[in-house]
Amino acid sequence: MIMREMGHLDLVSRKGKAPGGYNYPLDETGVPFIFMNATSTLRDLVTILHEGGHAVHSFVTRSLPVNAFRHPPSEVAELASMSMELISMDEWDIFSRTRVI
Ligand SMILES: [Zn+2]
Repeated sequence: MIMREMGHLDLVSRKGKAPGGYNYPLDETGVPFIFMNATSTLRDLVTILHEGGHAVHSFVTRSLPVNAFRHPPSEVAELASMSMELISMDEWDIFSRTRVI
């Protein structure tokens, strides 16, 4: 909710927008930014879950006193994001059942 209120979610694809998706930790505020190109596919759901996992990691580490501790190496960072995918995987079918075509 705080990310939406601060304008830190750029999720929907639009003409001319750069491709890809990522979570970008912002050290000054500790509130990360998520960028992606959603087009109403299952892949979008997986992407927001993945990047959301990185965002949770950013929030959890935001109060650490040493800035370098807030940026773990990828083998640690991907643990949070891929865990978000894995713990939600059994519910992914909800996306196809509720999707408006
Ligand atoms: Zn990742």
